Amino acid sequence: MSKYLSPRLSSLKEYTPGEQPRDKKYIKLNTNESPYPPSPKAIAAITRSQTEDLRLYSDPECKNLKQAIADYYNVSIQNVFVSNGSDESLNFFFMAFCDEERKVCFPEISYGFYKVFAGLYGLDYEAIPLKSDFSIEPSDYMNRGKNIVIANPNAPTGLALSINDIEAIVKSNPDYIVVIDEAYVDFGAESAVELTKKYNNLMVVQTFSKSRSLAGARLGFAIADSEIIKDLEKIKYSTNPYNINRLTLLLGEAAISDTEYFELNRDSVIKAREYTESELIKLGFTVLPSKTNFVFAKSDDISGEKLYKELKDRGILVRHFNDKKICEYNRITIGTMEEMKTFIKTVKEIIG
Ligand SMILES: *Cc1c(COP(=O)(O)O)cnc(C)c1O
Repeated sequence: MSKYLSPRLSSLKEYTPGEQPRDKKYIKLNTNESPYPPSPKAIAAITRSQTEDLRLYSDPECKNLKQAIADYYNVSIQNVFVSNGSDESLNFFFMAFCDEERKVCFPEISYGFYKVFAGLYGLDYEAIPLKSDFSIEPSDYMNRGKNIVIANPNAPTGLALSINDIEAIVKSNPDYIVVIDEAYVDFGAESAVELTKKYNNLMVVQTFSKSRSLAGARLGFAIADSEIIKDLEKIKYSTNPYNINRLTLLLGEAAISDTEYFELNRDSVIKAREYTESELIKLGFTVLPSKTNFVFAKSDDISGEKLYKELKDRGILVRHFNDKKICEYNRITIGTMEEMKTFIKTVKEIIG
């Protein structure tokens, strides 16, 4: 830390991304990326001439991309905000809507970035414990008198709330914003997008990083009442009006239009997830029922940390968290069926 850093940030604890080691070629099951390349239509959208156009600024209104997202979700273009990864939508939410008056709460075990954003803005947040089975207790969030952020399905547990529970939470907090972070919703949970038409305090956030194979392009979006979208736009025009680069605009537009390819890959991931769950259970693991592209699992025969290390030594990366409440678990991203067969074979070798 330099002596110049504002004291306001001196105790900020930044986000730690999953490791991306370059020392050898790993089977990468640690950052919930898709094992499949982006849609061929997205790849074809990046032509030489589009690349030459990078000399020009991108469309600050992101009109074509917003329209494609609006069409896909059957909402109006005024209800769509697009961001540089969904992390940016989340960042703008904390920046725009949370303060001393309007505090924020989220599950104690959830996406690690929520605490980081709260810290960045000096917010006094509340982390609400999960139940002993790692599920979220919906009644903990009813009439809470605070802004609320819930990842649904939650990470790293993979567990999802029903749409009825989400609606009850949104309905009981009309004076506060409820953010539903649906980074993993495409892998089997119910989306709350339809509810944004009924409730003006609901902000649904999604990403192209997981189910649409565009993690490296950095593209996410929010769907909400048009007044909330206008507030997000105000922040965007006050930080980075060209927040989505020209190539990513094209990639996103093509990817969201290629429903067939999307469904094919999603189904492959779900199939490989079901295989992985059932094989791990056969090996005596406790596996939380996942609605995502990862599984959260622990074994009584080996500690979470040891399994993580042994797998890494054998060229397979999974995500281990040091937090005491979850350190016996590993979060295993679902790769291709072939990768998951190698993973299971390797786990068998390790636990003997
Ligand atoms: C991956 C993830 C995100 C962020 O993804 P971006 O790459 O920034 O779009 C947001 N929320 C959760 C719960 C995630 O797992």
